[in-house]
Amino acid sequence: MSQDLACHIAGRRRELAPSLEQRNPADLDEVVARLPDAGEDLAAEAAAAAAGALGPLTAGVEARADALDRIGDALLEQRSALADLIARETGKTVGDAEGEVVRAGRLFRFFGGEALRIVGERFASTRPGVTVEVSYDPVGVIGAITPWNFPVAIPAWKIAPALAYGNAVVWKPSEHASATASALMEIIASAGLPEGAVNMLLGARNAGEALVADPAIDAISFTGSETTGRSVIGAATRRGARVQAEMGGVNGLIVLADADLDAAADGAINGAFFAAGQRCTATSRIIVERAAATALTQRIESRMAALRIGDPRRRETQIGPLVSPRQKAAVAAATAAMRAEGRKALDGRRGEGAPACFVNPLLFTDMDPGDLVMREEIFGPVAGLMVVDSYEEALEALNAVRFGLCGGLYTTSLARAEHFKRHARVGIAMVNLPTAGVDYHAPFGGLKASSFGAREQGRAAREFYTVTRTAYQAAPR
Ligand code: NAD
Repeated sequence: MSQDLACHIAGRRRELAPSLEQRNPADLDEVVARLPDAGEDLAAEAAAAAAGALGPLTAGVEARADALDRIGDALLEQRSALADLIARETGKTVGDAEGEVVRAGRLFRFFGGEALRIVGERFASTRPGVTVEVSYDPVGVIGAITPWNFPVAIPAWKIAPALAYGNAVVWKPSEHASATASALMEIIASAGLPEGAVNMLLGARNAGEALVADPAIDAISFTGSETTGRSVIGAATRRGARVQAEMGGVNGLIVLADADLDAAADGAINGAFFAAGQRCTATSRIIVERAAATALTQRIESRMAALRIGDPRRRETQIGPLVSPRQKAAVAAATAAMRAEGRKALDGRRGEGAPACFVNPLLFTDMDPGDLVMREEIFGPVAGLMVVDSYEEALEALNAVRFGLCGGLYTTSLARAEHFKRHARVGIAMVNLPTAGVDYHAPFGGLKASSFGAREQGRAAREFYTVTRTAYQAAPR
């Protein structure tokens, strides 16, 4: 059943003629949602509504904390229904989707607690009789622009800290996940926040650009592709707005000869293929020490043959489709380019073709660092495997890309593990774990082209969502 979606401004639905639609990527005959592509007028209306909520929002910290708790509780209660909607709209498997909703619920609860822990500082002044106070105040109106691949968790890790620190929000969810976004918006709207505290602008590029350009938006928090991120950073900084951006990665996973190869193969399969490779933390490059190359490849190949690919709404499915025909075409173009260069791949699907937005999991073997899958984000269940002669060579290869989101190492050597954590040029280093899968209360973000600006999640979120102010006071004479 298709839903006609509306923007949400100042506590009310704001209807607009739909011009976009999202189909179920596992069954393209089903239209899941129709939505408008909002423009400048609506962005300005939403920003004004948000600005109007700033006073009431900062009036009572306990009310904000309670509202964040209520949103967290509602997400946990409604996890099954939301997970099914995510599966239907984006193709994420229902198990992964449920895990994501639970994580989002816990994120809201975490920031409910943080709202009560906003502390300042008091300095000893260099001047006798003077006090120096430092406070962390709200930035104002936050524009949040989110992708489709974590349609509840990423909005949660922007909206929850924004509110916790006293900001109001205009949120532009992905056009590929707007039914899910509307369900989350409904939960937020029922939490007892001041009218206009969170507004939702639906649409695609048009709506995103309108939001970034609006002078009443004080800061932009963006997650998405590198290309869009660069344009958002450029537009926001040109008008002097604060901006943070989390973008792509071509994350590497090193497997040394001393590693537990079964664990490493499980980690490689999880990182490269689960969520159909559509995680910014996915493993794109497996870099294996020569002595373990054959044994690791065999283990990965047998696991690929056992992958359960199919309807994302079924509990037993491990890998669903890509999000859209466009994403499927992009992945197909990349793999065709690899094959045209004579590159060979192990194929994780067994002859039944790839209907709708499904694609076959592929592991390209005998890769060189210059091969496409080794240097560009494909964002599908596609990875490359290259063989190296030493840990040092592996680390150099891992670091030799322009991205630096995350990287992994499988080893039983404590010395190598310690060295890797210090020398991998990534924001998130994983040892004996898949590259994907992070905690919600710890800082998240990459290095190099993967990220711009302050870190997200955990207490690190305070940096982006507050302005630091210093007040000097002398006693009256
Ligand atoms: P995308 O860049 O196509 O879209 C992201 C959001 O930006 C969407 O809401 C989109 O409508 C909006 N948008 C599009 N053009 C815009 C413009 N010109 N100005 C403002 N907004 C605009 O990304 P996607 O395909 O939705 O998501 C996948 C990408 O996101 C991948 O590259 C992935 O690596 C990245 N990602 C990164 C992280 C991270 O934390 N590093 C997390 C998840 C996804």
